[in-house]
Parts: sequence; C-alpha cells; structure tokens
Amino acid sequence: MASENTQTKDNSLITTTRALLDNALTRFEKGTIAVSFSGAEDVVLLDLIHRLGYKVDVFSLDTGRLHPETYEFIEKIRTHYATPIELLSPDAKALGELVKEKGLFSFREDGHGECCGVRKIQPLKQKLSHLKAWITGQRKDQSVTRTDVPLEQIDAAFSTPENELTKFNPLAEWTSADVWQYIRVNEVPYNPLHDNGFVSIGCQPCTRAVGPQEHERAGRWWWEEETQKECGLHSQNVIKIIAN
Ligand code: SF4
Repeated sequence: MASENTQTKDNSLITTTRALLDNALTRFEKGTIAVSFSGAEDVVLLDLIHRLGYKVDVFSLDTGRLHPETYEFIEKIRTHYATPIELLSPDAKALGELVKEKGLFSFREDGHGECCGVRKIQPLKQKLSHLKAWITGQRKDQSVTRTDVPLEQIDAAFSTPENELTKFNPLAEWTSADVWQYIRVNEVPYNPLHDNGFVSIGCQPCTRAVGPQEHERAGRWWWEEETQKECGLHSQNVIKIIAN
C-alpha cells in the first residue's frame, strides 16, 4: 500500500495533469485536437481524459510491423473506453518503393530514419496537418532525448507557415514508476508485452526486452546511438552531435 507521502505526491501530480488536460481540451475544440496512442503512458492519458468526461479523438500509427500483442491491445483499449481509434497507415506507393528497393529490414543497414519516415512520419504529418493540437505521453525521464520536454510547446517539427501546431506533454513530469502506479491502482489495461520484459514498445523488429539494469529505451533500435533514438514523431528532441 502506498505511504501517505506517496499518496500526497501522486495525488498532486494527478491533479496537476488533470488540470492540464482540462485546459487543453477546453482551449481546443473536438476535431482540432487528438491523442497519439501507442504505449502505457498514452493509456494513462486516455484514462484521465475518460474520467474527466471528455470524448477525444485518438489515433495510432499502424506501421504494419507491430507485435500481434500490440494489435490486440489497441482493440482492447478501443472496447474498454468505447472510443474509436483511427489507425494511420503508410502511403502504399512510398512503402512499396522502399520495400522493393531495400527490403523489409533496411533499418539494420542504414538506420531507422528512412523506414520510420515512410511508416510513421509521413502518415503522422498528414494527420497533424488537419489538427491544431495533439497530446503525447512523452516523459522527461524516458531518454536522453527527452530531458527537456515541456508540458506544452509549439511543435517545431510539424507546424507549417499555415498551421501552428501545439503539442501537449501532460506526463512530462511523471516517472515510469508514477505511470505504473497509476496503471496498477486504477486497473488500467496495458500491453501484455510489458509482463515479458518489454518496457518501451515500438515495432516488432526494432524492439526487444530489456534487463532490470538497462534503461527503458535500451530496447529500441539497440544498434544505434542513444542520442538518435527518436523515430521522428518527436524529432525536435534529437540531440545534435557536433564532432570535435
Ligand atoms: S520502428 Fe523499425 S520497423 Fe518500425 S517504422 Fe521504424 S525502422 Fe521501420
């Protein structure tokens, strides 16, 4: 059972997050704001929004390379919260050209940028061009690329001269422990892969389970530099390395 101090800290964090979500969903009317859904953090967001009484648009990137458990999880969330979830698919022509030229595992040879670009970034960019704001589950302690994530920001990566996009990161101050305490206490559904050592879950070929001493992002693109481990959804986080 959580101590009184822990409960106080958690209640304060949850109260602050509720207020942030309430503010975001009041400022941006339905149809102009959406939640990007994939991981444990995003279900916490959906649960908080659900308990606040809001109906919000939800989308998820269906790269075509997700684990079977992840597809089952998406379906579970859809029914649990009685919420439609829009699945964004890659452009068939762009994907066909990539696979024809470089095969299904090009990311092992030349990095994940091109594959993520086709399977994630292009569909996301298309979706965000129709929104004024989006809500993500980014946390500061997720990786070295996210230590400065603010609660709210102008999305420098996806804003255009015609459309300034606001990005909300209501869980920026949450730790992994905070997320999992919320999930356990509130019996929130989660991806069963988490019970098998998977912490940060992405596409099946680019995700592996991690050991107890490893950082959660160690299971993503483990053949690449820590500073480059963003798939482009949050590319403004990527740390630029200046060679000496
Ligand atoms: S995570 Fe891997 S499989 Fe998925 S889009 Fe990126 S490079 Fe491709």
